[in-house]
Amino acid sequence: MTTPVPEDAMLIVGAGHCGGRAALELRNAGWTGAIHLVGDEAELPYERPPLSKGLLTGESTAQQCGFLPASEIERLAIQHHVAPATRIDTLARTVTLASQEVLPYRSLLIATGGRVRRLTVPGADLPQVLTLRNLDDAHLLALQLQPGQRLVVVGGGFIGLEVAASAIQLGCSVTLLEMGPRLMGRAVPESVAQRALTLHRKHGVKLLLERSIERIVPTHAGVQLLLTDGTQLDAGAVLVGIGIDAHADLARAAGLAVARGIVVNDQLETSVPGIFAAGDVAEFPSVISGALMRQETWHNAETQAHTAARNMLGQHESFAAHPWFWSDQYDHQVQVAGEPALASSGPNGTVSRRLAGSEEIIFYLDAERRLVGACGWGLTTQLAKEFKLARMLVERNVVLPRPQVLQDLTIRLKDMLQPSSYRSATTEPTSQTIGAGI
Ligand code: ADP
Repeated sequence: MTTPVPEDAMLIVGAGHCGGRAALELRNAGWTGAIHLVGDEAELPYERPPLSKGLLTGESTAQQCGFLPASEIERLAIQHHVAPATRIDTLARTVTLASQEVLPYRSLLIATGGRVRRLTVPGADLPQVLTLRNLDDAHLLALQLQPGQRLVVVGGGFIGLEVAASAIQLGCSVTLLEMGPRLMGRAVPESVAQRALTLHRKHGVKLLLERSIERIVPTHAGVQLLLTDGTQLDAGAVLVGIGIDAHADLARAAGLAVARGIVVNDQLETSVPGIFAAGDVAEFPSVISGALMRQETWHNAETQAHTAARNMLGQHESFAAHPWFWSDQYDHQVQVAGEPALASSGPNGTVSRRLAGSEEIIFYLDAERRLVGACGWGLTTQLAKEFKLARMLVERNVVLPRPQVLQDLTIRLKDMLQPSSYRSATTEPTSQTIGAGI
């Protein structure tokens, strides 16, 4: 057997959403040499958002989550390897798989994603205690969500809340435990967390905040969770959704710089030239502030896959997409664009725009009154159109000399995108000020 010369191959480790998209983009960008896509799951690449929603309720199928069917893999001559990568040799420019196969690369992309955090209390490894990250996990969980099932969800973040909503829809009795003082503490403001809490309680979720589990013990009908405050909860199944950590062991062992994720520059290149990282596993400089950040979102996987693939081919593009994510819960949606954390702590740091229904968009501005983020909550059908405009305003880093205009429903967000229509007689726009006078 002849070993191909390194210059022949583009290699992607991680065949999830980001890795799969990157493989596609390599071909779209004109690469005609070999593409190796290495994954440790038997499935072809798929998108994860339906795993906590449609795949549980039966509204979507595993096949619909996939975006790179076998026929496409074949047509594009992408070589899909189902075996974990065990070692990167940065000098020889090779990756070894658990199957002992050694694959050479010209450029390497690490898109190994994240690994779910697990509870560390006694009983956390009982078979009724589940996590949700991949299709197999979703299939296992779906089997448990029968009408009348008593489900305890641990973690009031996006995964926990989406699963709670799906389980309620399926007729389960759901208790959700959150360790912190409010829901979605990592990502949304207090008012949105409060609205989500009210909605879930209205749908029948028993929501317990500031609760911690001491241990989980088996019972004849499932398990019992013993909380530190003495509460005892019986459950047929437990879903733990307490976040993920970057799956960066391979990179760390190869000597790449790793902090909370694999550290990359604005071109998504790691500390070792020719090796890139993208998606959940990458820690990259914020487009707005330059500070290192990690994003575990569909949008991040999608957009970084494109930039990384083109840079693997030597294009030197800066990653320029602003963060964006959404979460669907019942008929409601939360969306976050930009980086709310960069808001000024002053009086104009946040401005709320209350839409005609119960929807609300909270805008975040920095000390220069530049929009740095937005968070919206409301009925999906009502929020979507208005938030699309909010997102565009954030992406353009619009500066608003009078941020209060955002509260005024008579002034359309659409118009704020067009500087000329709101130029006041007294305020001339500067070169970086869009919508001056608004
Ligand atoms: P995910 O994407 O899995 O939902 P998030 O980070 O958005 O992850 O949310 C995880 C939530 O789980 C956070 O609200 C966090 O406070 C909560 N959490 C973390 N550890 C525990 C725990 N041991 N018990 C209950 N809640 C927890």
